[in-house]
Amino acid sequence: MTPFESLAGALAEWPSLTRSLLMHHPATGGVCPACSTPGGRIVVVAPCSPRALAETAQKIRAQRGGR
Ligand SMILES: [Zn+2]
Repeated sequence: MTPFESLAGALAEWPSLTRSLLMHHPATGGVCPACSTPGGRIVVVAPCSPRALAETAQKIRAQRGGR
């Protein structure tokens, strides 16, 4: 298991945080508003890493029989 999968597995136990990440980090739409600094030089294109992590956590939770 990779560190990414381990982290996603831990996040799977925390559905409210998973939902929050999915809400604030869109899968599409170009720039991720949560990861990009407003007016800044750091621009993160969606889907970002937190989004991928939350989606992985959601899949793991579903596999474990949660919602
Ligand atoms: Zn993001």
